[in-house]
Amino acid sequence: MRQQVAAIQDAMAREVKAAGTTVQLDELRRKYLGRKGMVARLFDELSRLEPDERRESGRLLNELKARCEEMISRRRAEIEREETRQALSRETIDVTMPGRRPPLGRKHPISRVFDELKEIFLRMGFEAVDGPEVELDYYNFEALNIPHNHPARDIQDTFYVTDEVLLRTHTSPVQIRTMEGRRPPIRVIVPGRAYRSDATDASHSPVFHQLEGLAVDRGVRFSDLRGTLALWAKEFFGPDTKVRFRPHYFPFTEPSAEVDVTCVMCGGHGCRLCKMTGWLEVMGAGMVHPRVLENVGYDPRELSGFAFGMGVDRLVMLKYGVSDIRLLLENDMRFLKSI
Ligand SMILES: [Zn+2]
Repeated sequence: MRQQVAAIQDAMAREVKAAGTTVQLDELRRKYLGRKGMVARLFDELSRLEPDERRESGRLLNELKARCEEMISRRRAEIEREETRQALSRETIDVTMPGRRPPLGRKHPISRVFDELKEIFLRMGFEAVDGPEVELDYYNFEALNIPHNHPARDIQDTFYVTDEVLLRTHTSPVQIRTMEGRRPPIRVIVPGRAYRSDATDASHSPVFHQLEGLAVDRGVRFSDLRGTLALWAKEFFGPDTKVRFRPHYFPFTEPSAEVDVTCVMCGGHGCRLCKMTGWLEVMGAGMVHPRVLENVGYDPRELSGFAFGMGVDRLVMLKYGVSDIRLLLENDMRFLKSI
């Protein structure tokens, strides 16, 4: 019996030492100390021994059992310590490693140009207002002196919702809404979106952006318009920029003009961008038509005003050297990151 006990103890000591996981330890515990384990089997044999020998062997077996328990729990503690150490070293943070920077968003070039334009005109005393993009025919055409047979009303140019409701084709209806709602002096700008059923190409898009300006008061003259836009051009394109006005026709202004600025690329010497003219057309402008003033209940003999409207997409393209308007609307991150 003494020899058997010593043999089991040695074998167990070896196996416990070799065990690498707590699962293996659990198996060993079953093998030696379980109800049908090796130690239990020796206990069974006690009954066949003589009383003296039985007492002595019983003591040995109890000692063996206690030592086995102790070996297993000591080894279990070692394994758990080792597992904790490994987990900690896996999860260590290397504080010397450079951090990962989350990509920072920024404003779209159209928003940046809108902000810049607003800043310039707000400094001159204008106030920014807005109005609905789904508009009544009356505000989009009728009140702006655009007669029923005018080509702009063609179904091919305008997105109609019903006969009387449409997507505004310019920001000008907000001029009418503003004049209806208050008395002069009025100095407002209208930044916003407009819609025309143009086929899409490098310079046309069915949705585009405008900034409209309107000033109405006693004694507003064409020279006020010229001065306002000359200052705007210097602020927006640079101090050497000049403006020129070419006679034109718009139903809602009289007289009307198309406004050019000296070419941003060649400074007026002539290049491919300005088709060798030295000038770039950037907006339409004029004195508010007397009939438009009458339509909102103003007396054109007493009040006068000027209005202008610029295509913001074109300004973005000129400012950032973009050759295709579609790039401004496609939200391609490669393009947006590049400008
Ligand atoms: Zn040029």
